Amino acid sequence: MDDDRPQFLPWQADILQRALSLQQQQHLPHAVLIDTPGEQDITGFGRYLSMLLLCDNPSGLSVCAVCEACRMMQADTYADFNLVTLEHNEKTKKLNKNINIEQIRKLIHEVNLTRQYERMKIALIYPAEAMNKSSANALLKTLEEPAARVLIMLVTHNPGHIPVTLRSRCQSWSINPPTREQALNWLREQGVEDATATSYLQFASGDPVLALELQRNDYASLVAQFKSSFSQFLRGELSVSDLCRGLLSAETAIIRRLINMTLNAYCYQSSGVDADAESRSGADRRSAQALLELRHRAQYQLQVEENNLDLQLQLEDVLISLKQILSRRLI
Ligand SMILES: [Zn+2]
Repeated sequence: MDDDRPQFLPWQADILQRALSLQQQQHLPHAVLIDTPGEQDITGFGRYLSMLLLCDNPSGLSVCAVCEACRMMQADTYADFNLVTLEHNEKTKKLNKNINIEQIRKLIHEVNLTRQYERMKIALIYPAEAMNKSSANALLKTLEEPAARVLIMLVTHNPGHIPVTLRSRCQSWSINPPTREQALNWLREQGVEDATATSYLQFASGDPVLALELQRNDYASLVAQFKSSFSQFLRGELSVSDLCRGLLSAETAIIRRLINMTLNAYCYQSSGVDADAESRSGADRRSAQALLELRHRAQYQLQVEENNLDLQLQLEDVLISLKQILSRRLI
């Protein structure tokens, strides 16, 4: 298969089929809210779905890749397709946390312009949950008075974070998470051996796209190395700064995941779910509470953007607190 050809993930096929069937029956709604599992960027899927609906000669769920719409969509020059997503702040160069009202106003303007081609116009908003209140309000008016032959697609990982006023004006479509078999097959196609795939799927709570990303970052080695350094740190054989320095070569998102996973594991252990009687003393109940608080605090503390001194300081703080809680538990 030609690798440059746009593709979709097997578990996204149902939604593509549904969209295509509705289009064939001329029953496509003017607005849809697509809720998708996982946390990985799925702009590619949104683009593919748009391309499929615009393609002159789709075959099954495959785009032809050669018609005018396909070629322009691939070159990102198709005038009747608009993508609204998180942008980088010009000053700080960091990714904005919100889709702001200017972006939505611009989109509404584009949507109301005369179409350049015979096909419908598509507006894709992803991640839709990143629209702030004023953006959502601005979009609401457009959803209430839809322009002809325009499809507005909101794609989200968190449908609960979309205002109900918006949700109620969209048809809701859900992409189901992959089955274990689909996940394993897909990872096999990406060249990941079954045993590795199984352990990485566990790290990724069943999400194969995340599992692949973790595998490419050699997450298992990072976990093994961290486990061993963390035990040394608990025994007082390694300083907190050396412990953190060992982690900081990894990407921030990966470090955050590792720390969350570690804290979750301790929280689970101290919850009593899998513990024997001797690990459920009164002192343990207090450390269980302290662990839960630390996990909550760490989620905020580690929300720094890049690997820098700030991250190292926050990491050190979290790990020192964890050591204190664990050493109290041993008394
Ligand atoms: Zn085509």
